[in-house]
Amino acid sequence: MTTTLVVNAAIVTVNGADDVIDPGWILIEDNFIDSLGPGQPSAAVIGRAESSIDCSGMAVMPGMVNAHTHLFQAFFRGLADDKPLLEWLKDCIWPGASHLDAETAYLAAKIGIVENLLGGATSIVDHQYVHADPLTSEAVCRAADDLGVRFVLARGWADRNYHEALTETADEIISRCRSLHAEWDGANHGLINVEIGPLIPWGCSDEAMRRVIDETRAWGRGTHHHCAETAVEVDMSLEERGVRHVPWLRDLGALGPDAQLVHSVWLDDEEIDIIAQTGSIVVHCPVSNMYLASGVPRIPEMLAAGVTVALASDGPGSNNRQDMFEAMKASILLQKVHHLEAMVLQPEDALAMACRGGAAALARSGDLGSIETGRRADLTFVDLRSPHIAPVHSVASALVFCATPQDVVHVMIDGSLVVKDGAIPGLDLEALLDEATDAAAELFSRAGIQSRLNR
Ligand SMILES: [Zn+2]
Repeated sequence: MTTTLVVNAAIVTVNGADDVIDPGWILIEDNFIDSLGPGQPSAAVIGRAESSIDCSGMAVMPGMVNAHTHLFQAFFRGLADDKPLLEWLKDCIWPGASHLDAETAYLAAKIGIVENLLGGATSIVDHQYVHADPLTSEAVCRAADDLGVRFVLARGWADRNYHEALTETADEIISRCRSLHAEWDGANHGLINVEIGPLIPWGCSDEAMRRVIDETRAWGRGTHHHCAETAVEVDMSLEERGVRHVPWLRDLGALGPDAQLVHSVWLDDEEIDIIAQTGSIVVHCPVSNMYLASGVPRIPEMLAAGVTVALASDGPGSNNRQDMFEAMKASILLQKVHHLEAMVLQPEDALAMACRGGAAALARSGDLGSIETGRRADLTFVDLRSPHIAPVHSVASALVFCATPQDVVHVMIDGSLVVKDGAIPGLDLEALLDEATDAAAELFSRAGIQSRLNR
């Protein structure tokens, strides 16, 4: 048994009451938060602690959940800064992705996971849909295993209308998902899980959809879908199937608390009602929605309807960072300017999306997403003593509007420090950056894509 005592912290609990305990202490025993309280801990608590972390000048918040990314795109940043979604896919993502091999994917995933960890995200959902090399998903799980992040691999697929090298048959999808699940679900002491991620409505047939939904439910896992990201895709669905995306998913039996609907930008009133009634989760990617000019999701209406909303960066090809502080800030600014209403969302709303909403997306509402007794010790420690943050009137506001990944001091997952003093212990970051840059250069040369990688 190991016990760590956190003292002198401004604890932003992100519990249902948005309590901030400042100053406060947290006792962590093994993987869990044993107890917490205001002021200084009692002599009895101090007596139980084997080690302590002095958090003077720091905030401690729940580890953030980056509920949707595509890690392989760490090698695709800045290749197409000026394109809407469908052109961006065809001109930039598909040609490179169809030449991605497993070892290149491993390095891209490693860089992407390091970025998430250093930026205070303790959990990542990777929507991994590149299978030109059938070992790519395993390689990505291996990167997550090596770095100790809490990780869901949402195994993506398309069985029609997609780039040939990235298309599989329904039989191939089911059998490959099964082997991936058998090998990786529950790995690294339960930190890694596998679910299925139908890639995109126009790339997925009804028949394959029904089969994968049955498959993932049989595992007790969820489904992760791109949904209503752009108006063009909703029009395509209306033209081909005569139905918008959310009713299509409902009719397939896909919806429920185990369904994560990424983007959900173009929803009508009925679709918001369906999502609320089924308890499905919306994953909001504000920076990507702005970057690709996709639109403004109706987040305040969703929250008012009782929909659980998680927050995410989306892939580094359409962001171009994986910065959950930026995602929190953008989630609020986008709605303020869209509604011309300064009070439309508050910092506490963004924290709830990044932490509790993310925990719901992981189907872990019971043990992740807030700092409370009995919860898993996934914590992010943020330095508030910097000129772009101090002096602090409101810690919640400082975290959402001022803090950046560079302010993250420590990151704890399941009670272990995976980031310590702003670095990942045992990782040679410079060597990783060199190796990744070489691998990216080789990838784009194989794919015949002109790039001028900066070494
Ligand atoms: Zn995406």
